[in-house]
Amino acid sequence: MKYISTRGGSEPQSFSDILLGGLAPDGGLYLPEQYPQVSAAELAEWRELPYHALALRILQKYIDDIPACDLKTLADRTYTEHTYRWCRPGRDAADITPLTTLAPGFHLLELSNGPTLAFKDMAMQLLGNLFEYVLDKRGQTINILGATSGDTGSAAEYAMRGKHNVKVFMLSPHGKMSAFQRAQMYSLQDENIVNIAIEGMFDDCQDIVKAVSNDAEFKARYKIGAVNSINWARVLAQIVYYFKGYFAATRSNDEQVAFSVPSGNFGNICAGHVARMMGLPIARLVLATNENDVLDEFFRTGVYRPRGTADTYVTSSPSMDISKASNFERFVFDLVGRDPAVVRDLWSKVDAGGSFDLRATPYMAKLASFGFVSGKSTHADRLLTISDVWQQHQVMIDTHTADAVKVGREHDLSGVPMVVLETAQPVKFAETIQEALGCEPGRPKALEGIELLPQRVQVMPADVGRVKALIAARC
Ligand SMILES: *Cc1c(COP(=O)(O)O)cnc(C)c1O
Repeated sequence: MKYISTRGGSEPQSFSDILLGGLAPDGGLYLPEQYPQVSAAELAEWRELPYHALALRILQKYIDDIPACDLKTLADRTYTEHTYRWCRPGRDAADITPLTTLAPGFHLLELSNGPTLAFKDMAMQLLGNLFEYVLDKRGQTINILGATSGDTGSAAEYAMRGKHNVKVFMLSPHGKMSAFQRAQMYSLQDENIVNIAIEGMFDDCQDIVKAVSNDAEFKARYKIGAVNSINWARVLAQIVYYFKGYFAATRSNDEQVAFSVPSGNFGNICAGHVARMMGLPIARLVLATNENDVLDEFFRTGVYRPRGTADTYVTSSPSMDISKASNFERFVFDLVGRDPAVVRDLWSKVDAGGSFDLRATPYMAKLASFGFVSGKSTHADRLLTISDVWQQHQVMIDTHTADAVKVGREHDLSGVPMVVLETAQPVKFAETIQEALGCEPGRPKALEGIELLPQRVQVMPADVGRVKALIAARC
């Protein structure tokens, strides 16, 4: 399987070649040349498989430059009961992504049982093992530089900790994260994890990452890389739980299913789109946004209108607070019949700060055939939904999952099971839970008191030169 760019300007590449890079050189995103199909016989066999074996079947369809036995070792090592052990009482951690049924035909798929209690662990843990494997084979090293306001950075650190040939330099805004988030990241004692608290906001951290990455000489010399959400391997890893969720919510492969997905950068739901293109019987993909409704607007109207950072709301489902959706280009490539010239034309407008409008084009009619519907949810909706699910089902959900429950209920099809993707545990957003329910969410036993552990972090002014000097000194 070779990988091509959505903008058409890159020679087909192997999986290992695109694994360590970010964007394609022409500014596009990598996608497989075509989507491998799943036969009825395969689907029948897959229904019975444990998570790591199912993951291997799917990875093998997309990766042909890592020997099957090595890929098996990587999948077995990634999807263990031990890594994903933070599940609800009464659920089986061996399921990796256990299903919780709220009402007949309405379920939650727990994707937040990994080390950082958010769904990014599902893909990031695999990425850590793939990076280590490919770097070892090639005798290379990488220094990952990132900026985080919470979830992504901690998932990356927990995935890369202790890995050979990988160092992580993670910038976070000093004093702006919750005590729990700080403790999660800064208490890591691994030599290859470097936490840098920047005296500024998240945007300052991101600006520093951009400035360092734009210095081509520094970037090459210190082998600077990234693990951002446009990485194809992250989307690939996420395809697996759509299959797992389908099998868990249905009895036979003649049935269809719907998924409701709390969306920000379109990474999670992009994997659902790919699963559907492979032949998984998905009747509906319900895209839920919070107040930052760029994607809801597109799926309702056909107009894609990214916002400026000044027009981006800070909400109580913060991991969905985006101004534009970095993975969305992958879907649009498929929507326009995989014509890179059309994608180039549309993104010449987006990259210049503009928008595009498909209303008067033939693509508008095609849009309906991809199974997407959408809706948005507000802070008031989140409070109501958290409280309603708690009262009716005695199940506590986090703010992002609440957005997907709210919008999922609006688009429920009778006779088709709805699977809501649960992307974080409530303990990560305790303030809003307190507001909705008047009580504190519980937390897994082993995480009690992590705020008291010794922390390793360097505080620094928002100064590119200082950050570069630290990287140089540590590499
Ligand atoms: C990242 C994240 C999301 C959004 O996922 P995308 O892939 O960006 O659409 C939703 N919920 C939580 C908890 C997240 O961390």
